[in-house]
Amino acid sequence: MTTCTGEDCANPTNLYLCGQCTSDLQAWLDKVPELLDDLFTTMAKLDKTAPQRHEGGGGLSTGSAMPLRYGALELRQALGLWTHANAESLAKDQRAGNFLPELKQLIDNANSCIDNPPEIRVITTCTCGGKVVTENPKPEAGEADSGVCEDCENYYEQTEAMTQFRIHRATPENMQTRHALKWIRENANLSIKSTDVRNWAREGKLEPTNPNRSKREHPTYNIADILKIHYRHVGESRRATNF
Ligand SMILES: [Zn+2]
Ligand SMILES: [Zn+2]
Repeated sequence: MTTCTGEDCANPTNLYLCGQCTSDLQAWLDKVPELLDDLFTTMAKLDKTAPQRHEGGGGLSTGSAMPLRYGALELRQALGLWTHANAESLAKDQRAGNFLPELKQLIDNANSCIDNPPEIRVITTCTCGGKVVTENPKPEAGEADSGVCEDCENYYEQTEAMTQFRIHRATPENMQTRHALKWIRENANLSIKSTDVRNWAREGKLEPTNPNRSKREHPTYNIADILKIHYRHVGESRRATNF
């Protein structure tokens, strides 16, 4: 006889786990198959809510939304290792004392993934044209945001300030509304209404770059400013262009 290696247990046993710890472990193992099914459903939902893959990517192939559902997929693989496990056999393993805490942790993580599936945000556009996405919550102001390209799996890390700076440098300044919206349509593939621009300007959200213009002159704007307010209105997840 030796002592059970189960957590907080000192029962005598001939194996590494006592009878009580073995049946506890089995009870948790029995939860695994249903969790695998639920994780699968969560993955399917994530695929559906995921931003559509860039054209030419071959539609919804198995690999299409991989980075998006990676958390659920990873958990499913880790849990999958326990599906055919049997507590009585596991009790003969000298690491048996660690199995239950490990399994409980995985099950906890699986449950929270199922209850609160990660929200997918598009943080920028990859140089390949794919969307750079992440499951992580939006970082605090000034902290870096990071994500992975859906298509080529390139990793990106950036701060909001870096993004604004890049957009400012890459887009024209001082344009009349009509020209600005045309530029945005052609280069960013986004359609913004001129009435929206007029309303934003009236509400003070959008500053013209020629505040001292004469009555005959049209107001002019920086494209970057228009885009910034547009994204604020439609939600950051719609930031699906290079700008
Ligand atoms: Zn025990
Ligand atoms: Zn890419």
